Amino acid sequence: MADYVIVGGGIYGCTVAWHLAKQGLDVQLLEAKTIASGASGGLGERGVRGNGRDLRELPLMAMAYDQWTTLHDDIDGATGYRRLGHLLLIERERDLASAPAQVWMQNQQGIETHLLSGDELRELEPHVSEDVIAAIYCPNDGVSDHTLTTQSMVNAAQQHGAVIQENARVTGLEHDGDRVTGLLATIDGKDAHISVGKQVVLTSNTHALSFIKQYLDIELPVFAMLPQVMALEPMEEMPMTHLIGHAHRTLAIKPLLDNRVMISGGWRGQWNSQTGEGETLPDQVEGNRQQAIAAYPALKDVPVDEAFADRTELISIDGIPIIDYLPGANNMLVGAGWSGHGWAISPAVGKLMAEWVMTEQQPDLLKPFKYGRFT
Ligand SMILES: Cc1cc2nc3c(=O)[nH]c(=O)nc-3n(C[C@H](O)[C@H](O)[C@H](O)COP(=O)(O)OP(=O)(O)OC[C@H]3O[C@@H](n4cnc5c(N)ncnc54)[C@H](O)[C@@H]3O)c2cc1C
Repeated sequence: MADYVIVGGGIYGCTVAWHLAKQGLDVQLLEAKTIASGASGGLGERGVRGNGRDLRELPLMAMAYDQWTTLHDDIDGATGYRRLGHLLLIERERDLASAPAQVWMQNQQGIETHLLSGDELRELEPHVSEDVIAAIYCPNDGVSDHTLTTQSMVNAAQQHGAVIQENARVTGLEHDGDRVTGLLATIDGKDAHISVGKQVVLTSNTHALSFIKQYLDIELPVFAMLPQVMALEPMEEMPMTHLIGHAHRTLAIKPLLDNRVMISGGWRGQWNSQTGEGETLPDQVEGNRQQAIAAYPALKDVPVDEAFADRTELISIDGIPIIDYLPGANNMLVGAGWSGHGWAISPAVGKLMAEWVMTEQQPDLLKPFKYGRFT
């Protein structure tokens, strides 16, 4: 029995657990495998980026910028946060035409943004391709180490008294009318029943989709995806020092601390039903690598060190998450469908989700993410 039961030990579940436990509340977190075994773990680093983000998420990113700078002190643990600055590269005149409007809008929302000419860009990034004519620059963007941060976050939650259970898979839900009263689970291979005193927070990523369908008969407009990430072999001299995105290429580049270049941006792997894991596809790996070479020709002869597509993410049909109580379960807050960019805003959203379950008042900044926008 716990007052607040959290399903899923990724960054969202752990952040909500930390905020609730800090208030002295009775919190239990159930994680099916191990902490950070889902989208909040794995190769390299995650982008902490406001540049190019959906308008509705920009106020959350503005809030998260401040939180990231002090998070390691707040949770007394490492996050690997580095403020590198993000450059959205522009090669085509038609993309340059819309750039001033994007720069204006992002500045309005508290995301410091500048439009750089080709010459200004080359002062920051001398090795960028000659085809790049301009860039949208956000100096406050950066990266953090997702696996490390999630571990630090769960440690902080535990320090404040949250009960964290790994190898604890939630399998069922009990309710009394519209109220969830208990969860069924398998903990260390044994059947278990957890009574819910007050609220459930469902942050189990792809699992949430089938769970909601089964117990609330609601089909969320989201789908599972296996984003591909890869690291090239270490280079003596790194060709870039910023976090890189691109206006028309499917591309994200991160310079890692171990002198490897990490490449991603939206290429996908596929599910292997025999191994029960996601795997990369050779044409996707090569396609992603070629996009990186087009932006940074110095990457041409650098072999791929490792590539993965083993962490599933739920993508929402309109590209922003669903953070809401759903019909039929008025004490279960769902956070799902982060659409490949949930990491950066997690300090802000996790804090606001915790406030919502404690006060039962919906925070204004979370209103754009309600389920009702689809119905
Ligand atoms: C490859 C990749 C690259 C990304 N890059 C970026 C980036 O650069 N910038 C950015 O902002 N975002 C990025 N994201 C998105 C971001 O990482 C995710 O949105 C975020 O980590 C989601 O956190 P979560 O806690 O919701 O989910 P998860 O970390 O997936 O956690 C959910 C947890 O629930 C557990 N679980 C599942 N079923 C059950 C069950 N039945 N019972 C109990 N527990 C269960 C899982 O084991 C898992 O640990 C990326 C995502 C991926 C996959």
